[in-house]
Amino acid sequence: MEKTIKVCDFEQTPNYDSNYNRNCDAEYICECCGKKLNPKTMKQIQMLNTGEWTDERLEVPCENDDRYDADGQGFFYVGPDCYRDIMKRIAESNKTRRTRVITEY
Ligand SMILES: [Zn+2]
Repeated sequence: MEKTIKVCDFEQTPNYDSNYNRNCDAEYICECCGKKLNPKTMKQIQMLNTGEWTDERLEVPCENDDRYDADGQGFFYVGPDCYRDIMKRIAESNKTRRTRVITEY
């Protein structure tokens, strides 16, 4: 199904690298800040090949289809604080992408 989805730029915090290096043995690490994640509170969020997050919950396929603005890169784990921040930035963003989403398998 074709759909216009809202996006915001993917950003990492300035201390991502130092946090990541400290936590590299952790099972789950936040994609934004590099902090260790608690599986009970972590969230999943979808990334596009344009370097943007989207709040779209349906999967955007990775299929290199020229008819669409962006391909999906899959869902990544982030902590609850970073998730809230991304969702706020998407809500305030007026940037959209025309894509396809998978509605059934
Ligand atoms: Zn984070």
